[in-house]
Amino acid sequence: MLKGKSAIVTGAGQGIGEGIAKVLAKDGATVLVADLNLENAEKVAKTIVGAGGKAVAIKCDVSNKSEVDAMVEKAISEFGKLDILVNNAGIYPFKPFLEMTEEEWDKVINVNLKSSFLCTQAAALKMAEGSKIVTISSIAGFVGFEGLAHYCATKGGINASIRAIALELAKKKININAVAPGAIQTPGAASAEEVMKQTIAMIPVARMGQPEDIANAVTFLASDRADYITGQTLIVDGGWTLR
Ligand code: NAP
Repeated sequence: MLKGKSAIVTGAGQGIGEGIAKVLAKDGATVLVADLNLENAEKVAKTIVGAGGKAVAIKCDVSNKSEVDAMVEKAISEFGKLDILVNNAGIYPFKPFLEMTEEEWDKVINVNLKSSFLCTQAAALKMAEGSKIVTISSIAGFVGFEGLAHYCATKGGINASIRAIALELAKKKININAVAPGAIQTPGAASAEEVMKQTIAMIPVARMGQPEDIANAVTFLASDRADYITGQTLIVDGGWTLR
């Protein structure tokens, strides 16, 4: 589905980003595996290459403009073009709202929301017609979670901002959409068995999501099959938020 396409996936050293990088590569894309943790990014790129795919690793802090610009430059210099950007990197440190410091609020806003501005703008300036941008949101952009006021703000901000960005990028024939995961089993979201059981009890399909569940939705939105879809947020949560 993605043969001949080149892609950047941020935060791809583990978890959902790793799953997205692997599925995009399996579907034929060449992938720039970007992460704050270069060692993890290199491991993921090596696994993709070992499986017969094409991938290169780079260190990138998505909240830092010069590192983001260098990441986009690297994709162009390595692959000759950039067709797909997946804004996946994100953090979700729990903190009660009344104890949250200004620094903690700013950090989450910068890593989760400012990053999507920096990466999307840098990529869109270099992308050709037909390119696709997919940003990883969350069901936290639709419903509240205790201890995650800053995080909920960033994901709601993503859902709202992609609608405005989609209007402008449509003129360049670039589509931007978001995928909003529910509870996905990743190193970052690892929790005690009891908490996991309680979470699963709330999910109609009765299991935790896997990174591949999100990757499959991202792959569709990154493909030509999604040419007529833009500015949308697709919830992928096993039905958690239906009730
Ligand atoms: P994860 O397991 O913690 O992985 C996130 C990756 O992003 C890590 O490799 C991390 O590197 C990297 N990262 C952190 N800060 C970064 C930065 N400033 N620049 C570049 N990379 C950075 O997280 P995940 O669970 O896969 O989540 C990925 C995305 O899905 C996030 O946007 C998250 O909000 C969203 N999401 C997750 C869930 C879920 O249940 N897991 C649900 C809804 C939405 P380090 O390890 O070095 O920090």
